[in-house]
Amino acid sequence: MAAIEPVRVDSDRLREAGIRPTSQRLGVMRAIREGGRRHLTPESFHRELSDAGIRMSLATVYNTLNNFAEAGLLRRVGVGDRTWFCTNTGEHHHFYDVVSGQLEDIHGPQPQVIDLPQAPPGMAIQGIDVVIKVRRI
Ligand SMILES: [Zn+2]
Repeated sequence: MAAIEPVRVDSDRLREAGIRPTSQRLGVMRAIREGGRRHLTPESFHRELSDAGIRMSLATVYNTLNNFAEAGLLRRVGVGDRTWFCTNTGEHHHFYDVVSGQLEDIHGPQPQVIDLPQAPPGMAIQGIDVVIKVRRI
């Protein structure tokens, strides 16, 4: 059996998500895939792309990450006024180190939220993001 070409997988994933696979977006997908599981900020990812020889403005990086998150290719996680883009799109929650400002996945059993309130009239709950704030002791 022939190996599946990663670039082809990336373009298929973009198409399935309703995003036209331009060469710039394919470059972004490849950088996301090759970097493994992690939490990106627009600034950190802008540096990564620049180191990989992909030139994009910070605004374009920000828009691309948001478009990918809206299409379900990344998970957007907000803590306070900061936003991360998690490359792990599976159902999971996060630890946030309040000193270092690092976000990391909670592995294994996930926290459960009990006694959820009813959504406001005319609204439906779409998801719950648990962020547990921690600090080194
Ligand atoms: Zn995550």
